[in-house]
Amino acid sequence: MKDGFQNSKNFKMNNDSIDDDNHFLTSIETPIRSDAFEIDDEIKIELIEKKFREIMEVLGLDLNDDSLKETPKRVAKMYVKEIFKGLDPKNKPSVTLFENKYKFNQMLVEKDIAVYSYCEHHFVPIIGKAHVAYFSSGKVVGLSKINRMVQYYSKRPQVQERLTVQIANELREMLQTEDVAVIIEADHLCVASRGVQDVSSSTITSSYHGKFLDSNVREEFLKYVYGAL
Ligand SMILES: [Zn+2]
Repeated sequence: MKDGFQNSKNFKMNNDSIDDDNHFLTSIETPIRSDAFEIDDEIKIELIEKKFREIMEVLGLDLNDDSLKETPKRVAKMYVKEIFKGLDPKNKPSVTLFENKYKFNQMLVEKDIAVYSYCEHHFVPIIGKAHVAYFSSGKVVGLSKINRMVQYYSKRPQVQERLTVQIANELREMLQTEDVAVIIEADHLCVASRGVQDVSSSTITSSYHGKFLDSNVREEFLKYVYGAL
């Protein structure tokens, strides 16, 4: 359990069938081509607009309708500038570390960070919350940087396990400590609104490192997040 990676509830990790609900994680790195940023955002928006228009046309929609006319452009801008902007390293938040001058050496917990991500198998939303904790190594960051980092990795086509581990790895590097924990609980609209149409299930993933591999420390964190256990 070096990586302390856990997976629970209804997440399927087997890959012995390839039905389209099988959310199988293949890599911790987002699978992205090396030429991904050779074309700039404005060209990407133009290309996606054209292709999304084609999808709508294939579906039989009337693109002359006032309500639909601007949709391809709207979707293209939203993909590049908003919901998938975390694909591009230039959008990664910059972080300044400060000395921990209060010598605060207890667990610091930030809970209920909003997560809006997108299932990379269906391109529909994953909506949930992230809970993060760390022990300072002598350095601290502004709390909003943690939220921004969660948002950055969320704004990609994602798999929840990968998102969890990417955030944990980033925090370990950013905070210069191994003592990091991340929990994400989220609803997947591809499960709720289609497929098995299970509206009540949610998926919980966690990534524990350093001191959080100790069950007492982990329990303290869980108590802050969920109240008395
Ligand atoms: Zn999905």
